[in-house]
Amino acid sequence: MPEAELLKEAERQLMICNACRYCEGYCAVFPALELRRTFTKGDLIYLANLCFDCRDCYYACQYAPPHEFAVNIPKLTAELRVNTYRDFSWPAILSGLFKRNGLATSLITTGSLIVILLLVLAFKGPAVLFGAHVGEGAFYRVVPYAAMTVPPLIITLYGLAVLLAGMFRFWRETRGGLSAVIDPGALGRATQDAFGLKYLRGGGVGCNYPNANFSQLRRWFHHLVFYGFLLDFASTSVAAFYGHFLGWPAPYPLLSWPVVLGTVGGIGLLIGTSGLLYLKFKSDRLPAEGRMLSMDIAFLALLLLTSLTGMLLLALRETPAMGTLLVIHLGTVGGLFITAPYGKFAHMVYRYAALVRNSIEQRRRDYP
Ligand code: SF4
Ligand code: SF4
Repeated sequence: MPEAELLKEAERQLMICNACRYCEGYCAVFPALELRRTFTKGDLIYLANLCFDCRDCYYACQYAPPHEFAVNIPKLTAELRVNTYRDFSWPAILSGLFKRNGLATSLITTGSLIVILLLVLAFKGPAVLFGAHVGEGAFYRVVPYAAMTVPPLIITLYGLAVLLAGMFRFWRETRGGLSAVIDPGALGRATQDAFGLKYLRGGGVGCNYPNANFSQLRRWFHHLVFYGFLLDFASTSVAAFYGHFLGWPAPYPLLSWPVVLGTVGGIGLLIGTSGLLYLKFKSDRLPAEGRMLSMDIAFLALLLLTSLTGMLLLALRETPAMGTLLVIHLGTVGGLFITAPYGKFAHMVYRYAALVRNSIEQRRRDYP
């Protein structure tokens, strides 16, 4: 839908909600919209990014399609969120990656894999892919240490810069001002809400996901993905510290911190991403938005592939399959990090910013 039309439609639906107020116990969106009589573009962006797509309001709504009012808040907010990710990303020329995100993610990941494979073939030769490598520095006999650390670091810093620039634009558009700096209590509460996935509890009984029945499954799978990702990140950081500062090269023993953290995180990611993908495929399409669905599936599939190849690499690291698995794993990790600022990963920064904004607003309402 063209932007002007979408904003008008959003205002129409939210005006109905403001008069109805039936859903105010489900999440933070409804209490926040009730503080407003009219909605600026910044208000709509803020409210959309507060929505966790739990769909409780959709199944509870007496005005949802086929009613002539056609109120469909999860679909509406998802469309606004995709536009937020696209409009606030940088550089503008790459914002098209949000349009056909599934295709873009597949092509970039395949490209990353091919580049790494060609570089290994050119500099190390094909034999390195099929020989067994064991002992200290085994991985670096296939892909040198510098090649395994410098490009990922540059890509990660670039991704962080793009996401932080997007967060800054979000904050400016929603007129957050300096409120976050002067209200650390609100920051703490928003962080607690984000880490506890508070609004995936719905009104307390869970999401209406994948259908009209209440369930906590989505929240638990999301927890496994989120904390699994953090544990894997911690594992990589500890391994980098060992290699760079202590001079202990990978691979590490099974009972070392990098392997234990990586294994627990990897198992969490495998279960969480498979579960969320299953729920996505089973989910009702009426409250869904096409571009968001494609983005969700691409991101989850790539995370699943990354954790699967990582676990296989761990299990088979002392066999002749190690070289090939290492190239495949690095290719998928490359795809994940290159596409991070241009896909579903971006939701983390905007949702967190919206939670901070909401926390500030709530404290001002409760303690004027
Ligand atoms: S989604 Fe429907 S039931 Fe809920 S507040 Fe809006 S109009 Fe009312
Ligand atoms: S889908 Fe859930 S989180 Fe989003 S507005 Fe409706 S009740 Fe709130």
